Amino acid sequence: MARAVVLGGGISGLSSAFYALQEGAPAKFAKVALLEASERFGGWLHSTKYQDGTVFDYGPRSFRPEANPGLNTVDLALKLGLRDDIIIAEKGDILDNRYIYNDQTLQELKFGIDKLFKVVPPLKKRLISYIIQDIRAAKGTEDESVHSFVSRRYGKDAADFLADPMLRGIYAGDVRKLSIRSTLPKLYEMEKRKRRTLTTSYPKTPYVHKALQDYVSNWSVWSLRGGCQQLSDALVGHLSRPEMPTELHTSSPCTKLTFKDGAALVTSEKGEITTDHVFSSLYAGDLAKILPEEHGELAEELDGIPAVSVVVVNLEYPVESPIKGFGHLLPSSEDGPILGVVYNSCVFPQQDKKFSMGKVSRFTVMLGGAWYDQLLERLDGSLNPNGIARLANEVVSDHLNITEKPLKVDVIIQNDCIPQYLVGHNERVERIFKYIKDKNLPLSLVGSSYKGVSVNDCIYNSKLAVERLTGLPPYVAPDIPKAHFLH
Ligand SMILES: Cc1cc2nc3c(=O)[nH]c(=O)nc-3n(C[C@H](O)[C@H](O)[C@H](O)COP(=O)(O)OP(=O)(O)OC[C@H]3O[C@@H](n4cnc5c(N)ncnc54)[C@H](O)[C@@H]3O)c2cc1C
Repeated sequence: MARAVVLGGGISGLSSAFYALQEGAPAKFAKVALLEASERFGGWLHSTKYQDGTVFDYGPRSFRPEANPGLNTVDLALKLGLRDDIIIAEKGDILDNRYIYNDQTLQELKFGIDKLFKVVPPLKKRLISYIIQDIRAAKGTEDESVHSFVSRRYGKDAADFLADPMLRGIYAGDVRKLSIRSTLPKLYEMEKRKRRTLTTSYPKTPYVHKALQDYVSNWSVWSLRGGCQQLSDALVGHLSRPEMPTELHTSSPCTKLTFKDGAALVTSEKGEITTDHVFSSLYAGDLAKILPEEHGELAEELDGIPAVSVVVVNLEYPVESPIKGFGHLLPSSEDGPILGVVYNSCVFPQQDKKFSMGKVSRFTVMLGGAWYDQLLERLDGSLNPNGIARLANEVVSDHLNITEKPLKVDVIIQNDCIPQYLVGHNERVERIFKYIKDKNLPLSLVGSSYKGVSVNDCIYNSKLAVERLTGLPPYVAPDIPKAHFLH
C-alpha cells in the first residue's frame, strides 16, 4: 500500500495528512510521514493564552463559515471534537460595523438602499453614480490589477478607498499589483459571465450537508476558545493517536526533494525517505529551494510567487473599546505601513481575561506588508520590539482615542507570511500544475501559495488534493448539536 510524505506542518500540511488517512476514504495511503522545519506545528496558526485567561493570536484570528470551504472547516472542527470550544460572533449590528480610517477620522462603511442618492465617505460621489458607471463599464482584459478592474467598473475612488484597504486587510498587499482574477475571483467571473450576481468560485460538491448550513446560519465569524492554534493542535492530537499510521517530526526541514521512476526521495537531516507521493505545503519560494537542477523551470515559476512580511502587535487596555465593530482598515494613501486594527474584544469577548466584565479591550495592529520598507524607515531602520510597540500604541490612541497605557503588548514579526497573487498568478499556477502533470511527478501542491490564502481555502484545497488522488470518500456528517448554545 502507498506511503506519503507531507512537507510542512502548518494547517495545510496537517489537513493533508488528516484527509489522506480519513476514515472511510478509499484506502490509498497506508502510512504518512510529516516533516516540519520549525520546532512547533501549526505554521501561522499560533496563539498564546496568558494565566489570567487573555488569548492573543499571532496569525489568523477568525474563520468565515461561508460556502464549501467555510463549511468544511466547521465540519473538520466538529469531527476533531472541538464542538464545545467553538466561539461564534453572530451576524448583527456590531460585526456589521466596519470602518475605514481616512482623513484622520473613522468612517463607517454602510451602504443601504436609503443611501443611494447620498455621498458616503470615504467615497466622493453619490452611490448611484458608481452603479451607473458599473452598468456602462467596458469589459476588461484576461487579468488585470484589482485597482484597474475596480477603477474601470466603479471609479477611481472606489479603487483607492474601498478595494485598496480591503486588499491590505486580506493580503497586506498592493491593490495596484494584486490580480483581480486570483484575489477576487467572484467579481472576475461575474464580469466574464456578464452577470450582476456573485457566484461561488468553487464547484458545488455533494458534500455540503444541509444540517451544517443550518447550524452556522447565524454565524458571522467563529474561532476557538484557546485561539486558532487550537485547530492545528487538535489535528496534531488526532494524527498522533497510537492507532494512526503516522510519523510527525518537528525540527526536520526537508533539504532536498528529487524524483525517480515514479517515486520521490525526500531528504532531511534525519535521513532519506523514499515515498510514493509527496504533499508539499511549503511556501512556493521554500519549495523552489529544495528542488534539483533538472526541475529548474518549475523552481523558477515557484520563485515568481512573492510573499510579504507582517508585524502583528497585540495590545490589551484597561478600558472598554469606545468603538464597537470588527475593526478598521487604512487606505495606503492615508498611511502606507499601518494596515489596520482588529477590535478583538468586540468580536470574541470570550478571549478577554477572566472576570474582566467587559472592562478590558484587546486590539491587534497590523503593520508592514507591501509597505514593509516604509515601516523600517519609520522605525529608523530597526525593527526593535519597543519601537514597534510604541508605534502600535500611538495608532490605537490616535485612531480610537484611548489614552490609558496598555496592560499587555505582544510584538511578533511574521516573515514572508502572505503570498502575493500578482497579475498573471492564475496562469502561473496553471503552468506549475501542468508541469507536474506532464512530468508525471508524484507531487501535490497545497498551501497558501496557489489557490487561496484563507485557512478555509488551505484546508479545502488539501482535501481536494487528496480527493484527486484517492477519489471522493462518502460524506460522514459530524455530530451537529441541535441548539446554538456554543457561546
Ligand atoms: C498575520 C496573519 C493573519 C491572518 N489572518 C487570517 C484570518 O484571520 N483568517 C484566515 O482564514 N486566514 C488568515 N491568515 C492566512 C492563513 O493563516 C495562512 O494563509 C495559512 O495559515 C497558511 O497555512 P499553510 O499551512 O499553507 O502555510 P504555513 O503555515 O506557512 O505552513 C508551512 C509550514 O512549512 C514549514 N516549512 C518551511 N520550509 C520547510 C521545509 N524545507 N521542510 C519542512 N517544513 C518546512 C514552515 O515552518 C511552516 O510551518 C493570516 C495570516 C497571517 C500571517
